[in-house]
Amino acid sequence: MGLYDKLKDVAKIAQKADNIDLYRQLIDLSSQALDLQDEINKLKEENEALKKNKDLDEKIIRHSQPYITLSDDKKDIKYCAICWGNEQKLIQMKGPMDANSKYYCQKCHNNCRED
Ligand SMILES: [Zn+2]
Repeated sequence: MGLYDKLKDVAKIAQKADNIDLYRQLIDLSSQALDLQDEINKLKEENEALKKNKDLDEKIIRHSQPYITLSDDKKDIKYCAICWGNEQKLIQMKGPMDANSKYYCQKCHNNCRED
């Protein structure tokens, strides 16, 4: 049984006991407990995202030009190092644009050559 259902059951019992003060305090506690549950869920999500980013961060290969590649990526796709630094998001760079192996990030307009 989840927290919400349990609280509802206890609130029913308190209501039957006809003790308004007890009932009020229970409602107050319920609301605090549900807020805590929300907070826990939010923290779990944040923790999951941080773990995922940490795993990813360990795979990142940095280059002298502002792009990154992933150590386990056989295709060697180039991602924008600026976007990764700012938002920890992998934004694939467009390219090569010409014979000089120029790559371009459509999000932040980072422009670079292959190392
Ligand atoms: Zn970018």
